[in-house]
This record gives sequence, structure tokens and C-alpha cells, in this order.
Amino acid sequence: MRHLVWFRADLRVADNPALYEATADGVKVSAIYIDCLKQWQQHGRSPIQRDFLSRHLQALSTELAALGIPLTVLTIDDSSQTPELLVNWLADHPHDALYANREIGLDERRRDKAVQQRLKELLEIRVFNGDCVFKHGSLTTQSGDMYKVFTPFAKTWLAQLRATGYRLHPVPKAQGSAVTATSIELTGERVSSAAWPVGELAARDRLRLFCESGVYDYGDQRDYPAINGTSSLSPYLALGVISPSQCLAAIEQQLGHLPMSRGEQGFVWLNELIWREFYRHLLVAFPRLSMNRAFKPDTESLQWSQDKAGFEAWCSGHTGFPIVDAAMRCLNATGWMHNRLRMIVASFLTKDLHLSWRQGEDYFMSRLIDGELAANNGGWQWAAGTGADAAPYFRVFNPTTQGERFDAEGDFIRQWLPELVEVPTKRIHTPHDWLDNNQPGHDYPKPIVDHKRARLHAIAMFDALKDQS
Ligand code: FAD
Repeated sequence: MRHLVWFRADLRVADNPALYEATADGVKVSAIYIDCLKQWQQHGRSPIQRDFLSRHLQALSTELAALGIPLTVLTIDDSSQTPELLVNWLADHPHDALYANREIGLDERRRDKAVQQRLKELLEIRVFNGDCVFKHGSLTTQSGDMYKVFTPFAKTWLAQLRATGYRLHPVPKAQGSAVTATSIELTGERVSSAAWPVGELAARDRLRLFCESGVYDYGDQRDYPAINGTSSLSPYLALGVISPSQCLAAIEQQLGHLPMSRGEQGFVWLNELIWREFYRHLLVAFPRLSMNRAFKPDTESLQWSQDKAGFEAWCSGHTGFPIVDAAMRCLNATGWMHNRLRMIVASFLTKDLHLSWRQGEDYFMSRLIDGELAANNGGWQWAAGTGADAAPYFRVFNPTTQGERFDAEGDFIRQWLPELVEVPTKRIHTPHDWLDNNQPGHDYPKPIVDHKRARLHAIAMFDALKDQS
């Protein structure tokens, strides 16, 4: 008897349901990972995340090798070849069953369906829920539908947690002596992710440190980009190096209980994990979200601008709005951006420049180390007013007052905009007159839009939708 575990976005040995179940009863296990560079590129994923993935596959290979489990990385030119690839590989390496954790993107679900069809006569296929605390589709309204707004989903999620708790799967026992880890280097464009330590232990250390200190102040500090007030776990969660249940276990261990309601210490952070699950459940329930379509169908007819120069100014951080520019330059330099800044720059792109959220979503994906479809699409559509959001469409962030509120001293701005280093704090969010008077010849751009007018235009775009219905 031999089982095959197919690793995908679940690059961990701890709390990995597919791996754990495959090794139950002491059955011998091998592991594979299938890499398709073309699909990576079609999904517009970033070179820094590819580097992070490559390093994590190497780390996973080492961890599995210590358990006596060999990991083979197979490559294919086109994802549609996956069933054939598996059939051929299994002919040379016979196995009795295939184990995997479910992936949620539509392309991946279609691929898995094709694999199921092609392989079902050859071996047993078992699929598990490894990316959410509660399986997609398991939390529904009374009529069996997926929730369309966050708050009732979160209520049901918490009720489920109270009722059943969460499950953690232990690291499987070693199967005999260790094997040699394979050396793995993915092809394709890569940008160094060396600033991020690699491996499950590194991710768990980060989680533990955050729970020991950060989780207490998270509610007060999470909105200030100059402060290291959030967990920075997203790159690890995106590749499945750590699981959401491990996050719950870490908070529970730290606090002695799970915070279940607003006002309890640690709840604000737990709530963010619920947002993560909300967007993942939505992606499964609404396939159109994987197809570049708006969550709110009526917003498909919004007339987005085609302003190329505006888009380039936004991408490169030259809009003349310091908080927006600092955020974009931080993203371009590091592959990561603070959540408050993601909201500000997304609102700016869609509501000030009137450019489509799809352009922003793609650009983020091409740069982020934590890029993942559900959260990225969810965040962009939330900001654009086309998504699963209870807030009114006329909520438009003012980029200047957002900067004043969340980077009051300008520390974050000065970190990323060398041309504003000398600007006094009281002028840092509107530095143009000061620069003209004190640094003639400076090259910091004037604001590329008038926010007040841009806001009214954005509201008018949405008002026009009401007239059509
Ligand atoms: P923490 O604040 O410590 O939160 C813990 C974890 O909860 C995060 O690691 C993340 O997995 C999850 N989480 C937190 N906030 C959200 C949220 N609003 N939605 C969904 N999950 C959340 N997150 C991604 O992981 N990948 C993306 O591609 C992505 N794109 C985004 C695009 C936009 C326009 C916006 C507004 C948000 C996006 N987010 C994305 C959500 C959020 O900004 C990041 O998860 C967060 O900044 C990561 O930092 P952290 O790990 O320190 O988070």
C-alpha cells in the first residue's frame, strides 16, 4: 500500500489534513508538487512570490525528507496537461490513493475535476479542507446560500467555532529512516525574497512572537503603517506554510481562551482571520470572482477611465499625494504593503483616478509577496464599491486626511519619499508650497487630481447606475 500526497498551496507538514490522513495507519507516502510556469504567469503572480515559493519547496522537501517522505517536483508546460502527466507518472510510480487539500481558484477547481475524471479508475482520490478553519460551503444562510456580506458570515463562523472548535492535525510520524532532500530551483523570473525567513518554523516563530506581544496592541496599532503592529503572516498564509487553525491555536495558547466577541483582547485579530475566510468562501460560491467579473453585477457597466498616465503615476508612486506615493514605492521595493495603505491606494485608483479595480488587482498581484486571488480580489472590489460590502458606494477615502490620521508625523512618508525628507511635519501631507518656496527645482509632482472633484465624479458614476436600473 502506498499513498501519494499532492502538495499545492499547503506547503507545510504540520496541520496538513491531506498529509496527515495519507499517513494514517502507517501507510507509506510519497509527495509531489506540480509546477506550471505558464499558469503562474497567466495568473499574473509576482517574481518575489515565485522566489518565496521556490525557497519554500526546498524547505518542504527537507522537512518531508526528515520524515522519510520523498518530494518530487514535476513541471508541465500547460496546466491542461496535468491529468496526462499524473497518469504517466503513476504508471512508473504506482500508488493506491491520491491525497490533496482543495484549492479554491476556478482554474484549479477545473483542473482538479479533469484529474478526478481521468484518474478515478486508476486510484482512489481523497480531497480535504486545508486552507480554512471551516470548509467552503459549510457556512450558509438558512436557505443554504453563501452570505453576501461579512457580518452575518462572521456571526455564523463564530457560532460554528463555539459549537465544534477547530481541528489541528499533528505532524505525521516518520516513516522509517530519513531520505535525501531533493534540490529544488523553480524556473521563471524571480526577485529575491531573502528578507522573509523561510520554512514552517520561521512562520510559527513569527506567529508566536506576534501572539506574545503584538496581539495585545493590535486593535490600537494595526492602522499605522510606520508601526510594526500587524503579524506580517500573510506571505506564509498565502502559500499555506502556516494554517488558520494554527493561528487560532496560538492565540488560544497565549490568552488561555479564544476571544469570541468584540471588545475581548485578541478579537480584532481573530476578526481579520474571519475576513480571510469570508473572501475564500465567497470565491468558491461565486465563480465569477475568478473570472475578472464584479461581485455586484450592476457595477459591470461602470465607465472606468482609460487614463494611462494616471495609472503609471499611481504604479510608480508619483501622484503628488504623499501617502499614496510612499505606499506604492514601498510595494515596488519590498513586495508588501500595510493593510491601511492597501485600502488608501485602492480607493485612490478607483475613486480618484476612476481606473478599474481590475488594473489595481493585477498590479498588486504582479508585485505582492502575499498575492492571493481571494483576498486581493475581495480587497479591490471592496475598495471600488463593486464587491461584497455593506458600506455605501459614496464612501471615498480622502488621501490627504488618511495620511494625516494614520501617518501623522510623516514617518512612513519620509521613509519612502527621499524628496520629502526635509519637509516639516505640519506640511508633510501637502508639501507642494513648502517645496516650491524652500527647494526650488524639486521634482515632487503636483497632485495629479483634484480630490474634491474626483470624489464627486466617482459618486456620479455610481449614481448613474441607479438611473439605469
Ligand atoms: P494581519 O493584520 O496580522 O492579519 C492576519 C491575517 O489575516 C493576514 O495575514 C491575512 O491572511 C488575513 N487578513 C487580514 N486582513 C485581511 C483582509 N482585509 N482580507 C482578507 N484577509 C485578511 N491579503 C493577502 O493575503 N493577499 C492579498 O493579495 C491581499 N490583497 C489585498 C488588496 C487590497 C486592495 C486590500 C484592501 C487588502 C488586501 N489583502 C490581501 C488583505 C490585507 O491587506 C493583508 O492580508 C494584510 O495587510 C497582511 O498583513 P498581516 O499579515 O500583517 O495581517
